[in-house]
Amino acid sequence: MFEKLEGIVLKTRDYGETHKIVTLFTKQRGKIGVVARGAKKPRSRMAAITQPFVYGTYLVQISKNLGNLQQGEVLHSMRQIREDIMKTAYAAYLAELTDRILESHEPDPFIWEQLLHTLERMTDEEPDILTMMYELKMFEKGGFAPELNRCVSCGATENIRHFSISEGGLICLPCKKYDPDALLMDEKLIKILRYLRYLNVERVGQISIKTENRKKLRNLLDGYYDRYGGYQLKSKRFIQQMDTFEL
Ligand SMILES: [Zn+2]
Repeated sequence: MFEKLEGIVLKTRDYGETHKIVTLFTKQRGKIGVVARGAKKPRSRMAAITQPFVYGTYLVQISKNLGNLQQGEVLHSMRQIREDIMKTAYAAYLAELTDRILESHEPDPFIWEQLLHTLERMTDEEPDILTMMYELKMFEKGGFAPELNRCVSCGATENIRHFSISEGGLICLPCKKYDPDALLMDEKLIKILRYLRYLNVERVGQISIKTENRKKLRNLLDGYYDRYGGYQLKSKRFIQQMDTFEL
């Protein structure tokens, strides 16, 4: 039985001489693996609909393990991402993070839409802040989102000036003694962090954050993920190398 699904290509790998195995994040069925016959032939229709980050409709024969991709139609090619090495690196990271955290065959329309909006916006916006917004949603999905509303240690809502990676969120001044390495955050940065976590990608206009704060947030999220994320992500290392290169 075939089903028509809306999906986003998370990753592909070669399968035999001419085929590919494609991991699709679909709106209706969650994450699924499908065989795309002939997808390695460059000018085939299958090749076009199985490029990384493509959003399309996919006619799939569903199976418990690998399904069969019969045909599909590109709704948004995300070509602008694939043509930009930095955007490609960020999108690859989001795709890998999604692939790692989501279980197969478990739909999550909210996360699915966040990924779609994030990729769509990345086609003509800088990728780093959009990435952080999506990451924070994924951390929540993975069950390890940081506490950002109150002191993670005592629950206080006053005197919050620091973020503690080891405690798992914001901490108040009296509790800072539990983590001497807690990062000092100014009020604005705390506000930005909450904003990134709680607002949906499609509801936010372009956000500008000064470089120093961007770097601070990037380091914070990296340190946080390294501690709680549980997997080393290859695509993440690549972004970090590119960042170093930029300096
Ligand atoms: Zn406290």
